Amino acid sequence: MFGMMQTQGLMISSILTHAARHHGSGEVVSRTHENTTHRYTWCDVEARSRRLVRVMQTLGVGAGDRVGTLAWNGFRHLEVYYAAPGMQAICHTINPRLHPDDIAYIVNHAQDKVLFVDSSFAALITAVAPRIADSVHTVVMLTAPENMAEVTLAPGMTLACYDQLMDAADDDYVWPNFDENTASALCYTSGTTGRPKGVLYSHRSTWLHAYSTALPDVLCIRASSRVLPVVPMFHVNAWGMPYAAALTGAALVLPGRHLDGASMASILNSEGVTFTAGVPTVWLGLLQYLRSSGERLETVQRIMTGGSAAPPLLIEAFRDEYGVAVEHGWGMTELSPVGTYNAPKPAQAGLTKEQAAAHMLKQGRILPGIDMKIVDGDGKALPWDGVAFGDLMVKGPWIASAYYGEEPGSALDQDGWFATGDVATIDADGFMEITDRSKDVIKSGGEWISSITLENIAVSHPDVVEAAVIAATHAKWDERPLLLVVPAPGKTVDPASVLALYAGKVAKWWLPDDVIVVTELPHTATGKLLKTRLRAQYRDHYVTGSKG
Ligand code: AMP
Repeated sequence: MFGMMQTQGLMISSILTHAARHHGSGEVVSRTHENTTHRYTWCDVEARSRRLVRVMQTLGVGAGDRVGTLAWNGFRHLEVYYAAPGMQAICHTINPRLHPDDIAYIVNHAQDKVLFVDSSFAALITAVAPRIADSVHTVVMLTAPENMAEVTLAPGMTLACYDQLMDAADDDYVWPNFDENTASALCYTSGTTGRPKGVLYSHRSTWLHAYSTALPDVLCIRASSRVLPVVPMFHVNAWGMPYAAALTGAALVLPGRHLDGASMASILNSEGVTFTAGVPTVWLGLLQYLRSSGERLETVQRIMTGGSAAPPLLIEAFRDEYGVAVEHGWGMTELSPVGTYNAPKPAQAGLTKEQAAAHMLKQGRILPGIDMKIVDGDGKALPWDGVAFGDLMVKGPWIASAYYGEEPGSALDQDGWFATGDVATIDADGFMEITDRSKDVIKSGGEWISSITLENIAVSHPDVVEAAVIAATHAKWDERPLLLVVPAPGKTVDPASVLALYAGKVAKWWLPDDVIVVTELPHTATGKLLKTRLRAQYRDHYVTGSKG
């Protein structure tokens, strides 16, 4: 027997109409390219998104069409976020930090019809235009006529100005209802190996993810919050914050392209931001700036860090020096992206300051609505004891089942679980801790060594700013850990002093066999360590080097 409740679908447009109707005066603030501050309300976002649908229709965009964006966090980009799915088209955010070859590949793979681009990407568009001319017919620059940048497009492609198109359009569009499983947004994984793969979100998955992430034990976003996603809107939908903010009526502050410490401190304080989210590198930059300038954070209460492991320094320094809680979350493009969040349970109430900081290094508890497990090499579930580590598997309604263009269900195992590619422990309270990417784990004599654990210890050295541990081939043990460290500016690092830090913290056989001091480490377009390149360079260090 079915329940007798209404069955209206979960439309992304209804998140926005809720914001406009019930939080109409809620603010959306953007730092623009011209370094001015643009302010309007959720009511304006809704009306202008409907106007943008009319613009898209005149550009020939229809249901199911992909609309690409190459843009920083700003109000015009937000309008594309809502207009495209609202009219049954698909908002395809593209990471401008990718190599132009990858960008051309992604645009062609997605078959984007129209591209909405910030003026700062004019050179990039000019470079890729000849290679994307078969799919893209119009490039719309997200700016006013007087700020249009020079772009050379390929024959057959047209350049248009966003504000001009918007001024000429009506806002008489009425949001339609359709199947909630309709595709809404597309985001390609940046991938450290192979070609990027597309993850295609739906209205339903976006709604459920927004609901779950807004919860008190997750991002804890409410109508009185002022939230600032530093994480770019081209990186997994800014972790869903543009949707969660509208859902709750929170004020949304969009920082534009300047994400250095000084710019961040300025916008966080001047806009009274209470919660912000981004990757550790941004927070390390902010910390450095605050320490050197003597400035304080006036209103920020909580910072979410995710995307890569949280360095212990971040958690302790922001808490002890600035009274700000740094909270750790984990996710991935295939998870919309948030999967776990570290919020305490009653069992954590008695932790000392040091224990609480150490506990925050864990990536956290699974969000309600999805599930996780860890398995060994044979697929057998491992115990939740905080010690056993294995492949992390996830399942649930905002997790990809296949990549764009591939067979339905092809990303899942026979029981419907998605292998994250991360290796993790789960403790008795359900807190998950990533110990590695499965391809980065070091297999020494048949036993696994966690590269992340070793990196965390290395960066606790006062003169080390970044560390990478990779598996290097070893004649006897198959693989042994090799540590690469980057010294802080103006400092030198004695390898022995780094190795001394491991005493008593890990088993002796986990110790890196060698330490190499380097001036910098390679990163992917989303700021993660590019270990494939390090492995290619140093894989044979113990075989050909002096340390065999
Ligand atoms: P992406 O799809 O680009 O967001 O990358 C997802 C991957 O980033 C995950 O599979 C993890 O390997 C890594 N990652 C994300 N958050 C964290 C975190 N808090 N700690 C460690 N690794 C993380």
